[in-house]
Amino acid sequence: MSTTTTRDVVIIGSGPAGLTAATYAARANLEPLVIEGVTAGGPTGGQLTLTTDVENYPGFPEGIMGPDLVAGMRAQAERFGTAYLTDDVVQVDLSSRPFRIETSSNGDVWANTLIMATGARPRRLEVPGEDELWGGGVSACATCDGFFFRDKEVVVVGGGDSAMEEATFLTKFASRVTIVHRREELRASKIMQERAFKDDKVEFVWNATIDAVHGTDGVVSGVTLRDTVTDETTEFATDGVFLAIGHIPNTRLVADVLETDEDGYLVVEQPYTTTNVDGVFAAGDVSDHVYRQAVTAAGMGCKAAIDAERFLAANA
Ligand code: NAP
Repeated sequence: MSTTTTRDVVIIGSGPAGLTAATYAARANLEPLVIEGVTAGGPTGGQLTLTTDVENYPGFPEGIMGPDLVAGMRAQAERFGTAYLTDDVVQVDLSSRPFRIETSSNGDVWANTLIMATGARPRRLEVPGEDELWGGGVSACATCDGFFFRDKEVVVVGGGDSAMEEATFLTKFASRVTIVHRREELRASKIMQERAFKDDKVEFVWNATIDAVHGTDGVVSGVTLRDTVTDETTEFATDGVFLAIGHIPNTRLVADVLETDEDGYLVVEQPYTTTNVDGVFAAGDVSDHVYRQAVTAAGMGCKAAIDAERFLAANA
């Protein structure tokens, strides 16, 4: 797609934020281009594509599967003239407008406005054994890998909604699911906690972190637990380790130019989606560590497209 044509709106990221921005920009006749990465940061379509039932997205009283929701958003944006480019962005030059966006296989893309909707990726434990056994029993996606743990025992790390959701989902396959949480109080919402507490297959290890993951030939056999109160370590046998310990925003491309907060999220000028560079907007999980919901990401995507449209009108 290497071209000297300058797009009015380029959106990096194809989750709910990026796709909603695309629908709004397309309906404003701005012919947006969505660049959906193939390797950077996460899956095409964002984290929703890794979830199962989404029960809290408005308009779907029976719930909807995450991948179906994303597919619908994608088709909706396409219907109004959104173009898609499946490629990794390797560099972004925001020093002057139009902005230059260098892609891995399709050369440069030029943009009068840019919407950063690059989302966030799962946080890792960063302990011995984790990298070596990644994909061989260590995972951050129960939906993707739960199937391989039929009648096996697994550990889920974390105390938030994701941990409860992953644990409950894994009981469909595993014989026992042990949630390891570093405190003795969960962060998860009450309804998600109750689901996990009620499930006979779910057990809890409180006040514990994982010091190391063990295994041979790419297969997990256990973890070393550290008691966060006594500092004692114990060995715990398990066949799998599922991480649900939060996310890290995907800002590598722009972190040296766009302002970030102490956790690395892009800072926007509330209630708008404007960043510290004129013509660059941010939406979704890359700039939101508070709500991080599909519906809030979609809402931010809508705002970003309207902000971009107004910026273009004012700077025509
Ligand atoms: P989260 O709420 O940030 O929870 C992360 C959990 O991991 C916390 O319990 C945290 O412990 C723990 N943790 C963080 N770093 C750790 C480390 N290095 N070692 C051990 N434990 C660590 O993240 P989340 O569960 O992914 O949820 C993110 C957002 O998505 C939330 O707003 C949530 O409501 C939403 N969500 C909603 C649903 C749903 O409604 N269906 C499902 C999933 C997620 P502390 O508690 O001690 O900090």
